[in-house]
Amino acid sequence: AKGDGRNTARFFDQSMQAAADRQAALDSALRDGLAGRQFVLFCQPQFDRAGCLVGAEVLARWQHREHGLVGAREFIGQAETTGLIVPLGLQVLEETCRALARWSALPALGRVKLAVNVSVQQLRDPDFPRTVAALLAATGASADRLCLELTESVFAGNVQGLSLHMRQLRDQGVAFSLDDFGSGQSSLACLLRFPLAAVKIDRAFVQDGDAGGAIVEAIVALARKLGLEVVAEGVEQEAQRRFALACGCDALQGYLLGRPVPLDEFERLYGAGPNA
Ligand code: C2E
Ligand code: CA
Ligand code: CA
Ligand code: CA
Repeated sequence: AKGDGRNTARFFDQSMQAAADRQAALDSALRDGLAGRQFVLFCQPQFDRAGCLVGAEVLARWQHREHGLVGAREFIGQAETTGLIVPLGLQVLEETCRALARWSALPALGRVKLAVNVSVQQLRDPDFPRTVAALLAATGASADRLCLELTESVFAGNVQGLSLHMRQLRDQGVAFSLDDFGSGQSSLACLLRFPLAAVKIDRAFVQDGDAGGAIVEAIVALARKLGLEVVAEGVEQEAQRRFALACGCDALQGYLLGRPVPLDEFERLYGAGPNA
């Protein structure tokens, strides 16, 4: 038994070392990816109740030289741990503002908003409001086409600085939406404390026909009273689309309506006009 214990301990050390090695390798690959601007933007469309394109969510992908296209779940967590999410998020914001400036001249895309996921580490940075203002000015993008999506974890720490930064950005015309609403703990307090324009209902509720349905109805009623828009995400089936509409959701997003596609493909698909 003693021998087993030692073996177990040694195995543990080795696997922990292997995990640490993997993280170090991922970290250095992420740095290379940033330097080489290997992160690309995908966009997933959002439609209003009448079925008109009103926005898109920007989702980062990593175009890796050997591994090909890498999904956000494989690197966002590590980038958050190491702080690389700050420069990565900046590249994403910059590309987003460039797209908005380009689209402003196109009839079909000129009024479309882009929603970008922002990490708490970005929002906490005292320079963040100025940085966003500078990006908008440098690219010529309009602030009222930009929406920043925050998850509820954002609101767990020191909230004073965050809400100040949010107000500074809001005063420039940038909107905020609370992502994955209902899946965290402090949702209701967030709604009062922060200058939000919209909530996105977590797809777990959108996709659950029974209990989830009651929650979607309650969230919409609450959002109405607070003057917030409601976006339903993760709409995969016709029944879910009908239900989200029946509940009064203002906008819908999900595989049923459109998958995330590369930015240039998004421009080709939706830039030609309505129902293109
Ligand atoms: P999220 O913000 O909740 O984004 C929605 C995720 O759901 C995306 O995954 C999207 O591809 C996926 N999705 C969209 N429609 C459907 C659907 O109908 N069914 C299902 N099952 N999934 C759907 P993705 O692109 O892998 O992104 C994962 C997460 O990574 C995002 O979750 C977001 O939290 C984070 N993320 C992505 N890009 C960025 C970024 O640029 N910055 C930051 N900070 N986080 C990002
Ligand atoms: Ca999001
Ligand atoms: Ca979400
Ligand atoms: Ca999520």
